[in-house]
Formats: sequence, structure tokens, C-alpha cells
Amino acid sequence: MKLKTILSVHAHPDDESSKGAGIIAKYKKQFGARTVLVTATGGEEGDIVNKALDRPDVRDNLGSIRASELARAIEIIGYDRAFTLGYRDSGMPDSEANSNPNAFCNVDLDVSSMKLATIIRMERPVVILTYPEIQDRYPHPDHIRVYQVTMRAVELAADTSIEIDDLEPFDVPKIYYHIWTKGRIQALHAKFAEVGKVSPFDDGWFADAKQDYEATTKIDISDFISIKSEALRAHATQIDPESPFWFGLTDEEQAEAYPTEDLYLAKAPKGYEFSGHEDDLFAGLD
Ligand SMILES: [Zn+2]
Repeated sequence: MKLKTILSVHAHPDDESSKGAGIIAKYKKQFGARTVLVTATGGEEGDIVNKALDRPDVRDNLGSIRASELARAIEIIGYDRAFTLGYRDSGMPDSEANSNPNAFCNVDLDVSSMKLATIIRMERPVVILTYPEIQDRYPHPDHIRVYQVTMRAVELAADTSIEIDDLEPFDVPKIYYHIWTKGRIQALHAKFAEVGKVSPFDDGWFADAKQDYEATTKIDISDFISIKSEALRAHATQIDPESPFWFGLTDEEQAEAYPTEDLYLAKAPKGYEFSGHEDDLFAGLD
């Protein structure tokens, strides 16, 4: 069987652990896929949510601390190769960091997209995992930019009229968006009640929980939830080890309640007879 490469594009260190870590671990360890990570920024604007680590020495060195947290998470998840685009974290909407000229959201779209297009031509991934076009619930400028840069980079990488070093053009067959379905929130919420724990999902979650995307693709990660949890814990400054949102349910309880990570298929290869649902990223590929 031909070696297949999966490329994940993320905004900040820790996004690779909160989105798709189980999928990557599974495809690496179970199917022997080559797995490549691109992280756009250093995450310098992240809040330190772990109170035990909210100290001046940590705050002053957040960029380098997050780089070492990321290195540890990469090892845990099992990425074969990791790139950074080297941009600055743009910060949350309407924060001062938005105006920094090196902020990822301020760099010319074709400039940042060419960097990713170069990686695409080098790595030739059959699957790209990225963020959805609609991100109303968490409109972080860097996450919106990840979507824009991914789509533009895929066009540039495939364009035979564009020269990038001596790299052959490459048309990525499949693109997926990471999504959090309403069904997932409901299932986790119900599990908290079942095991007698307080759910972090309050009425607000359900009041404005709209479904922007149906899950086209559900990947069972029940055997890989412990890897995902360990990768999240590697981001000690960003992810509170006491967080009920991430760790309120045990790995086993999470697997029972909702065993999949969900995706939306945004681009498929020509001729792929897609029924609307699949459970394998490589479905329809040679
Ligand atoms: Zn992020």
C-alpha cells in the first residue's frame, strides 16, 4: 500500500491537541500514515488558564514555553514532522495584538499561503485537516486565517502556472474541517448527569448551539482518547488540569459517551461516490 500523508493546519500550540489529536494518533499508530503538522503562530497571546502557572516568569517567556509544550504534544500524538509558519499570535478579537504587523491575520494572504503551499508540494498530503469557513462560536482571527490560508494554499499548490522552488504541483484530494457537533455536547452533558458529576455545559451552550455543519465523517477514536488527554495535559499553561470541560469525564466515560472525532468533508477527489457519510479519511482514495 502506498504511504499516505495527512497534513493538519493549526493556529496555535494546543490546537493540535484539542482538535483531531485522536484521529492523528489513530492513523499513525493503527494505519501507519505519515502525519505532518503545521502551526501558524507561536501562541504568544494565550491566556495562562492554569492558575498554578500564572507567574511573571511564565508570562514573560510564554512563546518559548509554548514551543516546548508543543514539542511534547507532538511526541505524544505521534506527528512525524512539524512545521511552523512563524507568525505572531493575533490575539483575541479586538485586542491590542490585532494590530501587530507580524500578526498572522495581518500578513498578506498570498505570502502566508505560499509558505503553506510549499509544504503541501513537499509533503503531498492526500488529506488536509483544517478549520471550517464558519466559526461564529469562536471567531479567533488566527483560526479564521487558518481556513483562508489553507484554501488559498491548496489552490496555489495545484496551480501548474506557479513555480515554487523545483517542486511539482500537487492537487490535495481531500480537505476536512474539524467540527464540534451539537450531538457531541448533548452526549457529553448527558454522561455527566449519568455519572453524577456537574456538567460544564450550561444553558448557554444549548441556547445558542446551532449546527453549522453536519458531520460527514466520524472517526472512532475510543482507543486513542488517553493519548488526546495526555497531549492536552502537555500544554500545562493553556489547559487547566482541573478543567471539567476537558477532564471532567474520564477517558473511559468520554469513549462511552461520544467515541468519535467529527469532520466535515469540504473537498473530495473527482469521481468519489460519496453517500454523505464515511468513517475513514482514506475512503475514495487509491
Ligand atoms: Zn487556537
